Amino acid sequence: PVHPLHGQKALVTGASSGIGTAIARAFAAAGAAVGVNYRSHADEAERIVQEIRDAGGEAAPLKADVSSEDEVRAMFDEFGSAFGRIDILVANSGIQQDAAFPDMTLDQWRRVIDVNLTGQFLCAREAVRRFLAQGPDPSISRAVGKIICMSSVHEVIPWAGHVNYAASKGGVMLMMKSLAQEVAQAGIRVNGIAPGAIKTPINQEAWQTPEAERKLLELIPYGRVGEPEDVGKAAVWLASDASDYVVGTTLFVDGGMTLYPSFRENG
Ligand code: NAD
Repeated sequence: PVHPLHGQKALVTGASSGIGTAIARAFAAAGAAVGVNYRSHADEAERIVQEIRDAGGEAAPLKADVSSEDEVRAMFDEFGSAFGRIDILVANSGIQQDAAFPDMTLDQWRRVIDVNLTGQFLCAREAVRRFLAQGPDPSISRAVGKIICMSSVHEVIPWAGHVNYAASKGGVMLMMKSLAQEVAQAGIRVNGIAPGAIKTPINQEAWQTPEAERKLLELIPYGRVGEPEDVGKAAVWLASDASDYVVGTTLFVDGGMTLYPSFRENG
């Protein structure tokens, strides 16, 4: 179908920039109404919402820090008031707080785990509660609800200097799979997306200069740095009935970054 998410209501966290914005746009273009969560950049969130409305879509800005239980609950209540039901959650918000291991503060460790892992737990728990309460609507989707956890290639690739971040994404991977196993019988599909290097503000220094980009490309067999839209398209598929039999899987969107590129004969 041209609008594979027609009639569906989707909440995307961290949608005021980068990958989250691209997913919100792609979801709206696929026919979904979109809750655009942001933590502090109200102007950016308003801009995305307006852009979606101008294109004839439905969207609403939703402020919440995903690491706060109260704010997450309030965000889902607000989403419910705006859209009535919820069909899709994309738990996308994430941060980096890089440090050499001996220098990493407890605060840096906790903040990254709080946002990247606990934030996904809080949002997924709220989504599951609401999916179960509202029940199925086969006219909207075959699944009772769908959750996409934004992971990273660092759910499998160790990352020196980013121990907190890699730990959070490794945690996301097994949280996603365990949750998928637990709620599949209730008709809820939980999957993950693991992006490689995507051009967003989070990793600007890795692609901004030609020198940095050349170095980055050595890690990417497919020969280009990813765009947020690459992840947006994957998310539409993973949220739609086209992937109805895909349960508890991480979809790598990484140009081959996880293929051990240093083993290439000419690499
Ligand atoms: P980004 O910095 O542009 O976006 C991160 C988003 O998370 C922002 O919108 C930010 O406002 C939001 N956020 C941060 N803390 C929050 C909080 N406490 N509550 C609510 N929202 C919060 O970076 P991005 O690249 O778009 O990152 C999106 C996701 O993709 C992250 O989970 C990141 O780990 C993951 N990822 C990115 C890449 C990449 O190469 N860009 C690669 C792998 C994984």
